Amino acid sequence: MATYIILLGMQGAGKGTQAAVLSKRLGVPHVTTGGLFRAMEGQDSDLARQIQAIMKRGDLVPDDITVAVVRQRLAAPDAANGAIFDGFPRTLPQAQALDALLAELGAEVSLAPLLTLDREEAIARISARWECTLDPTHVYNMRTNPPKVPGICDIDGAPLRQRPDDTPEAAAKRIDTFFEKTAPLLDYYRARGILHEVDAAQSIEAVSAALLQLIEAKGRA
Ligand code: AMP
Repeated sequence: MATYIILLGMQGAGKGTQAAVLSKRLGVPHVTTGGLFRAMEGQDSDLARQIQAIMKRGDLVPDDITVAVVRQRLAAPDAANGAIFDGFPRTLPQAQALDALLAELGAEVSLAPLLTLDREEAIARISARWECTLDPTHVYNMRTNPPKVPGICDIDGAPLRQRPDDTPEAAAKRIDTFFEKTAPLLDYYRARGILHEVDAAQSIEAVSAALLQLIEAKGRA
């Protein structure tokens, strides 16, 4: 049975960090629309330039473009047994499109854990976030999870950078958008009985343990 898990929560809650942990543990890919869009940075096309401008402002990329990118990613063979979604879906139409995409594969969303965190802590975390320039799934936090050598990735030794949309202004806007556009999704998954809250203020290890426990319980159900 394929396992498709959606990590929900505002920016800074640790979705990327936890998605990387779960991806490794479960052997299914980490599908991050933000990461897929960032990978288009520098591409010489109108679409790529339009996406970069939207991201820089902290706005959402239109649903049709986002769903097309996910459809393409799910068609890759490594996603046949499941995926951990991070930053997708972010709107109700995206959630409905994902249901339709998974139904085509004979699958469905298994679990939608919600990583809860308060707004001030989220903005503080985002402002302290640095990512690897070689592999952006290697993410550090200068306060809670710093690299061993300042400015250098522990895993591959590449320089770290701050994301251009991690300024306090863009971060605050992205969090407002979370409440406006993404919060309605919570009821969508809650109504199906697959939304479970996890306190994201805990340590990285404690959050991972809570998530793995939910996944195991789901497997037994
Ligand atoms: P993230 O890395 O998840 O914070 O995403 C960075 C930016 O990419 C967001 O602020 C949006 O501009 C864009 N983005 C990522 N995922 C989505 C999505 N599911 N729908 C629309 N825009 C998205």
